[in-house]
Amino acid sequence: MNTVGTPENPLQVAVVGSGPSGFYAAEALIKSGPAVRVDMFERLASPFGLVRSGVAPDHPKLKQVILVYDKLARSPEFSFFGNINVGKDIMLGELHQNYHAVLFTCGAETDRRLGIPGEDLRGSHTATEFVGWYNGHPDYRDRVFDLSHEVAVIIGQGNVAAYVCRILAKTADELKHTDISEHALDTLAESKVREIHAIGRRGPAQAKFTSRELREFGELRDCDPGVDALELTLNPESEAELADKNNVVSAK
Ligand SMILES: Cc1cc2nc3c(=O)[nH]c(=O)nc-3n(C[C@H](O)[C@H](O)[C@H](O)COP(=O)(O)OP(=O)(O)OC[C@H]3O[C@@H](n4cnc5c(N)ncnc54)[C@H](O)[C@@H]3O)c2cc1C
Repeated sequence: MNTVGTPENPLQVAVVGSGPSGFYAAEALIKSGPAVRVDMFERLASPFGLVRSGVAPDHPKLKQVILVYDKLARSPEFSFFGNINVGKDIMLGELHQNYHAVLFTCGAETDRRLGIPGEDLRGSHTATEFVGWYNGHPDYRDRVFDLSHEVAVIIGQGNVAAYVCRILAKTADELKHTDISEHALDTLAESKVREIHAIGRRGPAQAKFTSRELREFGELRDCDPGVDALELTLNPESEAELADKNNVVSAK
């Protein structure tokens, strides 16, 4: 019997999903030995997962990681199959029949629901939808966002909340030199939003924004960032959290 992992019988691996996890897994496999073949299956036509459709369009440096994936994609041990939705266009059983191993690197495509009244009202959207829309993700690019009102509220205190605030706060002029989708740029150029509130369930000690994201608000052309001084007062629990050396927020 032929040993697997030899030039005559290379280890054949199917990788499902073409985001960073898929590419790093493929890279590790290919570098692990000369007798490995990786076939990557992606449900969308184009690769790179959330690097393409999540990372903010005005942060082009972060997207440069694509160059690394691109280089790997050129290696003879690697093939990419776009427009293949595993579980629909091809079944897991079929993959198992043709590969020694199947790796699932499909990301986390669903939103976490808050379970609060009004969550599904008109004008209430998830970040996945809005970010996907402005980044031209095929699942979301046809969504309609009504930006004819003056006030927008963002619920969350992480970097994605900061991206959404920033995209809403930037002028069309600032956005037009970014990687933003044409349709989103047209809609945002007509936006009437003048006031953006970022709301978090806890205080500044627990906020997950990185300092870099916050600083960027001070660099926007037509944005006047404001924080209520009272909101910055720390309660004893928050002070204790910040004093804890294992706390990731205080380490930032
Ligand atoms: C808005 C936003 C901004 C972000 N910005 C940054 C940032 O600036 N810096 C940073 O380091 N991280 C950032 N992240 C996090 C980063 O994008 C993710 O951690 C990373 O993309 C996860 O990689 P992944 O490969 O696990 O999943 P994904 O990137 O989601 O890739 C999964 C891929 O699998 C495909 N897929 C799913 N199901 C199937 C199926 N059945 N068959 C075939 N293919 C399938 C999907 O289409 C997708 O292409 C951001 C995330 C978001 C949401």
